[in-house]
Amino acid sequence: MRSTPIQELETITGLEPLEDRRDTKMLVQAAKFKRLPNHPMRNRLAQPTKGRLRTGHNRLNDQVYTKLRIGQTDQCPCQTGSQTTTHLLQECPMHEELRHRIWTDETPVSRKLHGSLVDLRRTASFVQEAGVSI
Ligand SMILES: [Zn+2]
Repeated sequence: MRSTPIQELETITGLEPLEDRRDTKMLVQAAKFKRLPNHPMRNRLAQPTKGRLRTGHNRLNDQVYTKLRIGQTDQCPCQTGSQTTTHLLQECPMHEELRHRIWTDETPVSRKLHGSLVDLRRTASFVQEAGVSI
């Protein structure tokens, strides 16, 4: 038995393309998850932090400006360098005090991003308290 190819089906019926329908569905589901206080996906949605920092797919200025060509600059608001993950976690003078409060000793960026659960929780707290949108 042969079935109609999906693209053909979309043309015939005037449906939105499959990709668009998937995106819409995902957005609707994400909105539902956010409304339900006990939904099992809630924590994952509230904590996109670690994955985004690790992969470099984040909304820090460096990534947004260099890769996506959006915005005016790759500079961190502190004006001492590009707003990269490493700058944020290790160097940015705006978050010096917070950094010392969360990591009492020198911690390499590799451990902050790929370390134990405790390390990752610290990183998540840091990003959250720093108020940076990633
Ligand atoms: Zn900075």
